[in-house]
Amino acid sequence: MLIDLHAHSTVSDGTERPADVVAAAAAAGLGAVALTDHDQTSGWAEAAEAARRHGIGLVPGMEVSCKTRRGISVHLLSYLHDPAHPGLLEEINKAREARVHRARRMVELLSEDFPIDWDMVNSHSAPGATIGRPHIADALVAAGVAGDRSEAFSTVLTSHSRYYVGHYAVDPVDAVRLVREAGGVPVFAHPVASGRGRVVGEDVFAAMIDAGLLGLEVEHRDNPAEGRAFLRALAAEHGLITTGSSDYHGTGKPNRLGENTTDPAMLERIMAAGTGTSAVGLG
Ligand code: AMP
Ligand code: FE
Ligand code: FE
Ligand code: ZN
Repeated sequence: MLIDLHAHSTVSDGTERPADVVAAAAAAGLGAVALTDHDQTSGWAEAAEAARRHGIGLVPGMEVSCKTRRGISVHLLSYLHDPAHPGLLEEINKAREARVHRARRMVELLSEDFPIDWDMVNSHSAPGATIGRPHIADALVAAGVAGDRSEAFSTVLTSHSRYYVGHYAVDPVDAVRLVREAGGVPVFAHPVASGRGRVVGEDVFAAMIDAGLLGLEVEHRDNPAEGRAFLRALAAEHGLITTGSSDYHGTGKPNRLGENTTDPAMLERIMAAGTGTSAVGLG
């Protein structure tokens, strides 16, 4: 069975509705997919219904935005957590609100040099979606400033850009604790993706593992080969789950569903450890 545990919908910065992500997963021949929108779980019900219709498994998930004390961005995948856990909810709500202020500020800075405004960004995001730079990228594409999202990211939207503004996000060690408290399975997303910005040092890995981290996303297109070897060794040393996933964003990124997959034995471990909500169609 082919399993892909990282996909985004219009609930965050993917371009397809949750039901369409699940339909695309079924069409790609996957037996199970996880919906992991940024800082939000409002796509779970629609995805679950679609999974039942298409006869594939759904692992409800989320990708929690985090930031270390040194300002390094960390993404923490959470599987099967209780979506109503107050502590975790408080943090993701804070991050979503901070993302709006940050995006407005970036658009303000960008509008000094490019023909974009907040209404254009809004028109490229679904109501209630977690706002991110990809939505700003869509406005830049519509304005003819960039050819696609990737071009916008490699130019004016990079974290080194003069238009870049950061936003509040929970410390990754606290996030690991909260996900565990919520009955979820915390898996460090694309941990060595150096192309996206600075990555954390071994001290942060150690602190996250001490706090209850259960897995590492090893097979991800943004993890370079040397980094994957380090991750495999770390997983072996600490008995961590390892996953492989696409990080699908619909047409918003080149990543294709099933381009990396997770061993069924690893999904079993995730299902055994996750107690906050149930998977759909996986026994
Ligand atoms: P943000 O969350 O606002 O900081 O923006 C980061 C998000 O943009 C991540 O979730 C990525 O999936 C997405 N992203 C990063 N690089 C690219 C790219 N080259 N093309 C499209 N989306 C990207
Ligand atoms: Fe994203
Ligand atoms: Fe991510
Ligand atoms: Zn992602």
